[in-house]
Amino acid sequence: MLGHTEESRPLEAVTIQGTDEGASQVVVVLGGHPDEDTSWAGFRLLQYLATTTGGLAAHTVHVFLDSDPDGAALNAERGAESLRRYYEPMNRGGYHRPAVAEQPAMHLPLTAREDIPAGADMKATLALKQFLDDVLDGDGQPPILFDLHRCGIGKMYAITTEAQPPLERHFALAAAQAGLPLARESWALGDHLVSEWAPGVWKPAPAEVCTGDARMGNPQLYAKHRCPRARTVIVEVPQFTASGPLPLSGPHMARQLRNVDAALRLCARTLDDLTLTPHGRAYLSREHMLQHLASEEDRREWASGPFPLQTMLRQTSELTSHALCTRNLPSRNMSPEWTLHGRVVRFAQAVTGARPVAPAAAAHAVLATIAVALRGEQGLREVSR
Ligand SMILES: [Zn+2]
Repeated sequence: MLGHTEESRPLEAVTIQGTDEGASQVVVVLGGHPDEDTSWAGFRLLQYLATTTGGLAAHTVHVFLDSDPDGAALNAERGAESLRRYYEPMNRGGYHRPAVAEQPAMHLPLTAREDIPAGADMKATLALKQFLDDVLDGDGQPPILFDLHRCGIGKMYAITTEAQPPLERHFALAAAQAGLPLARESWALGDHLVSEWAPGVWKPAPAEVCTGDARMGNPQLYAKHRCPRARTVIVEVPQFTASGPLPLSGPHMARQLRNVDAALRLCARTLDDLTLTPHGRAYLSREHMLQHLASEEDRREWASGPFPLQTMLRQTSELTSHALCTRNLPSRNMSPEWTLHGRVVRFAQAVTGARPVAPAAAAHAVLATIAVALRGEQGLREVSR
């Protein structure tokens, strides 16, 4: 137990002692983005370690169970079996991806703590920092950190801060073993990446691009800052796969983005103060994104991929949730935001053919990635048994 959040939820970590004291230590961070389900993969990993000897189980593995329990609580009641259920707005427990300013895992200090802006010291950030420091400052072999994420509608990829030959050589095999497609084009992912190490493996942009502030980083950038000899891997496993390239021109996608943006802004003007709810603040923090994405799509012959659709879905969902929280409507169907959201869900489903990734496949993708990063092809054989 590492403390409690602002809303009194526990912040917890689990350590599974390895059988080989000389083996490098492994750090796994779950739930950095509370809208992305990584808990299943975390528990599958713990179950594997608890029932196996040798191989991965030779390493001591430290798992931070949830980086944002308060954000996760706002996602607790939605499902993941369809885009409609995944992005479902509700006055409690619907889809929620907090504004970056409210994401604890994005505020780890890359500078002296007192230089970080006030308000950035969320309790979950402090607990995560303490947890990481305990491992990163230890003696012995430098640790390897895995930060688990789900990249919405798309393909599997990884982000590493340094060359990692075993992972680079076998990452595509790990994705294949989990039955997931491998991402090949970084510009379609909506992430800040600078160069490709190997198929599906990229190097991250510096903090001022990733978090918008050179003084604050995610667990990956923080681990590298605190312990330069550490290795780090962000694992991105899709929540849904698309049936193929989008059957949509760039200008067509741009028009959709601008239409939805205009409709959202119109709705937003009729609503009570958007800063009153986490949903309203999340919407506001991304209000500039749809126009920005539209100008990028305008320059493409074909739409880049599902990321602009996901951004629309996040925005229509968050604004609808804000409306449901602040307005007393006899039925949610009477909300114009809800109608707009429903239209975007149907459009996104039609053009992507999105199908959910089974939780077991997503969990195996993570286990296989950790296995190849630590033990190369042999690791892959071990976890496939
Ligand atoms: Zn994420």
